[in-house]
Formats: sequence, structure tokens, C-alpha cells
Amino acid sequence: MTNIPQLTTDLFLGGHWMGSSAGTLTTYNPATAEAITDIAAAGEADVDQAVRAATTVLHGEWAATAPSMRGVLLNKLADLVERDAQILGTLESLDMGALLSVTQGFFVPDLIATLRYYAGWADKINGHTLPNNGYMGQSVLSYTIREPVGVIAAIVPWNSPLMVLGWKLAPALASGNTVIVKPAEDASLSILHLGKLIEEAQFPAGVVQVLPGRGSVAGEALAKHLGVHKVSFTGSVEVGRRILRNSAGNLKRTTLELGGKSPQIIFGDADIEAAVMGTAAGLFLNSGQVCAAGTRVFVHRSVLDTVLDGLRAAASAQVLGSPFEETTTMGPLVNSAQKERVLGYVTKGSAEGATLVTGGGSPEGTGHFVEPTLFTGTNDMAIAREEIFGPVGIVVPFDDDAEAVAQANNSDYGLAATVWTGDVSRAHEVAAKLQAGAVGVNGWAPGGPQMPWGGVKSSGLGRELGYEGILADTEVKTVSVIV
Ligand code: NAD
Repeated sequence: MTNIPQLTTDLFLGGHWMGSSAGTLTTYNPATAEAITDIAAAGEADVDQAVRAATTVLHGEWAATAPSMRGVLLNKLADLVERDAQILGTLESLDMGALLSVTQGFFVPDLIATLRYYAGWADKINGHTLPNNGYMGQSVLSYTIREPVGVIAAIVPWNSPLMVLGWKLAPALASGNTVIVKPAEDASLSILHLGKLIEEAQFPAGVVQVLPGRGSVAGEALAKHLGVHKVSFTGSVEVGRRILRNSAGNLKRTTLELGGKSPQIIFGDADIEAAVMGTAAGLFLNSGQVCAAGTRVFVHRSVLDTVLDGLRAAASAQVLGSPFEETTTMGPLVNSAQKERVLGYVTKGSAEGATLVTGGGSPEGTGHFVEPTLFTGTNDMAIAREEIFGPVGIVVPFDDDAEAVAQANNSDYGLAATVWTGDVSRAHEVAAKLQAGAVGVNGWAPGGPQMPWGGVKSSGLGRELGYEGILADTEVKTVSVIV
């Protein structure tokens, strides 16, 4: 077992660390099912206090902080994250079960890159001057200013907490907003340590606050609070809808990054070896607990057997175990409910007539493990329509491009899509027709801080990352001076 870093378990509220009068919640190690520690769980009164602190500093010290200084602070935080990368990775692997090689090797570096990218934006958020028709015969100097939206609630899921938080935190701070972070019940530890680093970086007190707690209590209170101007949420569609309803009181801005059922289309002319490797990553990375997981695999009939053999071999090669073991390639699911949910879909798939190609079981012992699982079937089955959020995929054959696109688009979701082909014209043509927020060609889910991310249809509202992330965290004010 790895050395466990010191755990931070209090609320970070108004620049101070404190317990909650509303009680605690217990966080567990999904690889062993053992309790790790109790964490303060914010109640309504804590949320209210945090909103007041966020509002005071928003109009006070933070408003008076030069934009370039916001960039300096973001870079300082990136330096501290770099220094503590191992601690942050270990904490994230401990409570949500992703491999250390993924948390430390991918999620934490993504956070660092996002912080640095938006540090650069902080003093480059411009308005425009507007040529115009004048006012009652007089000339008008008209221009726009981009201003912060205000107090932003960042509500984060458990499957990659630091990475997803970075997408919310960095653009919000670069644009001059204040942020109240609500981590997920199952995975607060890495974000609480980040709170320590935010304190060490010396952001003014209240600019960033961390309020772990239950979605039904702290999350609800943030979404309803009239002092919160925007909710930036990543999580399930069901909770996304609830947040929209709860945000109606003061017409909050919302960015909703919701689930997916993303297609991967493998054409007959693709580099099949690369396509199999990439498709397997899209199915099994983070035990399938990835919003962009490519769980519907459409394969041209001419290469169906080769692809199935390759994916079966990739599944068999997975080694389930502790996220801290170097030989492990797949960790556990986050909790027992998630494991039961995933196994329920395996049963449903078989009951609907899908053919099990490999997996479908759960190894003996403690921990919430599910084998990498693959079915063949049709796009109308529940396992092809509903987000499973586990290592379960379905392979569906197709005969021509139009059929592949039609099947891929036949989904309630539209987050990401992958096209595997050796034909550049086909790649662009298919990418243009796919209903998705992001399309990867010959690579599953390429991304980075420069590339906007978000979904169409039930996969969400709005975009994070890139310049779109700045637009989403600012309001436009038009100033017109009669001259
Ligand atoms: P979830 O919706 O259950 O919870 C997400 C967060 O919302 C947690 O912090 C939770 O405490 C909070 N929450 C729960 N109820 C709430 C309420 N009533 N009001 C306010 N907040 C509330 O999702 P999850 O199970 O943590 O994460 C898995 C889901 O997230 C999957 O559907 C997945 O596809 C999605 N996801 C999407 C992306 C993306 O970028 N699109 C990224 C990661 C995860």
C-alpha cells in the first residue's frame, strides 16, 4: 500500500478551515470498500456564509486585483500543484479508485495545463469598439466591456475531480469571478488538498472556497441561492435538469456538462490496430467512468471479425486491482451502488438479446470491481441507449457511411464521437454530420485547455475550455457615449 498523505477534511470557508454544524460524511476506498475518513459536510447555513464571503471579496479586494495579478496567482497555484502532484494523485486514486498513473500522470497534469492556459488569458479579455449609426444626429462612441458573471458555484463529479474542477476554476478566476467549489460525496480529498494550495498561493480570502457535502443539501442550496450568479456543473443528466430548475429563481447562468453515449465509428479503411487500441481506451480507461467513453462501437462489416478479436484481446489483457499497483490497468468502480448499476446493465443486455463477447462478471473479494465487458447487438438496446458509466461497450455492425452516421446520431446524447478512417475526405464529411460537441478523428477524445468541450442534446448546455470558457464566465456590458 502506498503512503497516505495527510488528509484535509474541513470546509474552506472565507479563508478559514472549519467544521460544519450540519455534520459529516464518510468517504471510502473503492478498492477495499473500507472507510478512509469523515469529511465535514456543508449545510445550508455554510453555503449562505460562503456566498456572503464570495460576494464581499468579489466587489472588494478581488475587483481591485489587477488582471495580470490574477494570472500571476493562477501560475503560482499551477506551481504548487506541480510540487504536490504526487500527493494530489494519491488522494484522488485513494477515494475514487482511478489508477495512480492516470491521476498523477493525466488528471493532475491536465489541471496544471488548464491553470497555466487561463493564467495567460487573465489580462487579455477584451471588449470591442462598435461602429454605429449615431444618436439623434450626434456621434456615439460605443464599446463593450467583458465583466465577471459574479459568484460561481462549481459542482463537480467523482470521476476525475481535479481535472474537471480545473475546467471550471481556471477560466472563472482568470475572468475575475469568485468560486464556491462543491466536490462530489465520494471524491473530495484531492480537491480539499487543492484548497490548501489555494490558501498557500494567497488568493484573497473568499475568492475560492471549498464546501464538500451532499448534493441534496449543499448542491441544492448553491443552485437555489439568489446570491449565486452561475452554476457550472458536471454530472448526470438528471441532476443537471434539477439544477436548471433550481437556478430559475434568479435566472442563473448555467454550464451543464452532462453524460454521454459516445459513438466510435471504425470504417473498413482504418488502421485497424490503432482503431482497436484507441477504442479499447475509450471503453476501459478509468473503468469506463468517463463522460466521453466511446461505448457504442460501430464497425464496418468488412472488418467486424478483426475488430472483435482485437477488442476481446484488449479486454483480456486488462489487469484489475489496486490503483497503486504498477501492474494494474483497471481500478474499481467508485462505490457499490455504481458496481450494482453496471452489473444490472450486463443482465439487461443479455435479457434484451445482446451477445456477450467477453466479461460481464465481477471478481471475488472486496472492492467494487467489474470485468471489462463487451457485447454485440443493436443500437436500440438499453445498453446502447443509456449511459452505464462502467467498462461496458456494445459493438454494432454497419454497411455504409450513411447508416453509420444515422446510427451514431440516433441517441439522446451528443457529447463526443470518434471516427477511425484512412480517408481524409470521409473523415471531414462524417465529422460534419455527427451530432456531437467534439469529434476525434483517428484518436479517442483528444482534448486540452485550448479546445472547447461540452455536449449537444441531453449531453449538456454551453462549453468549457478554450476562449469559450472565458465567454461563458463573463457578461457583456455595452457603453455608449454621446460625443
Ligand atoms: P451526479 O450528477 O450524481 O453528481 C455530480 C455532482 O452533483 C456531485 O457533486 C453531487 O453531489 C452533486 N449533486 C447531486 N445532486 C445535486 C442536486 N440536487 N443539486 C446540486 N448538486 C447535486 O453525477 P456523478 O455520479 O458524480 O458523475 C457521473 C456523471 O457525470 C455521469 O453521468 C457522467 O457522464 C457525468 N460526467 C460528465 C462530464 C462531462 O464533461 N460532460 C465529465 C464527467 C462526468
